[in-house]
Amino acid sequence: MTRTGIVYHPIYLQHETDGHPEKKERLVAILDMIKSEALKVEYITPEPVTRDQIAAIHGERYIDQVRAISEHGGGYLDIDTILSRGSYDASLMAAGGAIAAVDATMNGFDHAFALVRPPGHHAMPNRGMGFCIFNNVAIAAKHALGRGLERVLIVDWDVHHGNGTNAIFYSERSVLYFSVHQYPHYPGTGKATDVGEDGAEGTKVNVPLPTGTGDEGYLMAFREILRPIALEYKPQAIIISAGQDPHKDDPLGGMRVTAAGFGAMAGAVKEVADICCQGKLAAVLEGGYNLQAQAEAIVSEIRAFQGTVPEVRGIDLKVAQRIEEIKKIQRAYWKCFQ
Ligand SMILES: [Zn+2]
Repeated sequence: MTRTGIVYHPIYLQHETDGHPEKKERLVAILDMIKSEALKVEYITPEPVTRDQIAAIHGERYIDQVRAISEHGGGYLDIDTILSRGSYDASLMAAGGAIAAVDATMNGFDHAFALVRPPGHHAMPNRGMGFCIFNNVAIAAKHALGRGLERVLIVDWDVHHGNGTNAIFYSERSVLYFSVHQYPHYPGTGKATDVGEDGAEGTKVNVPLPTGTGDEGYLMAFREILRPIALEYKPQAIIISAGQDPHKDDPLGGMRVTAAGFGAMAGAVKEVADICCQGKLAAVLEGGYNLQAQAEAIVSEIRAFQGTVPEVRGIDLKVAQRIEEIKKIQRAYWKCFQ
């Protein structure tokens, strides 16, 4: 029997953002739909991240700065990243939630989805940005490596490039980072030629996609780029930076992915997990700003993890051309493209 964990803590609702699209109602809508669709899941209560776990990714001064702003009642970390009194504690628990999802897959669960906020993939070592405070997925990947793993795959399908995650692991071979993102778009990073450095070349796989890309184009990138590279890399753990903002109805993205498309992407990652790591998968919530659309997308993803994968067929000619360019760039590092 498949065991699916949902990591959640009510403290995530105490990150108050006051009229901002990244609001607590996002989590409430997802939890409501998981219940109303009667998905078979078990709830997992996380612990806050420890100082050592967070300092493995973020600078001490930056961590103290976030705590001080929260303690003083809140304020702005950057133009679109707001902190309230509860934000520091929520942020520690968000990173702890990502860790709990990874640990769950090592302790009896097949998959775990961490429904956390604030999100994390834009957070840099010494700077929060783009609604993100601490880089939850990076902290969880570092934790997995600390448990003795040597190769972790992060799949980031948020509509925005995960510049923080990409930068944090840019010279680390132990993390394969695959990102599909709308380009050009916020935050402006994530060119196909950004492949990593200092011996980690090829372990950063950036797939910038044209505005308007839908299910077919996304699935081509997963089948033709992610799958062959991942099977050659042989990850021991897989973490998804699951942002549902490439959804066709998302107010902040310009893509056309449907709920079925999200399920198909989840299924494509699950196939890699089945081959490389006994089907084990952790997912961590990033963006997604249409309440109904992102909840439907997540339900479709969880069903795919559990074995019901929607079928997506068809060719996107613009994306086909982009994929050939990326294969040419990555050919120097991966036998599968030689
Ligand atoms: Zn996003």
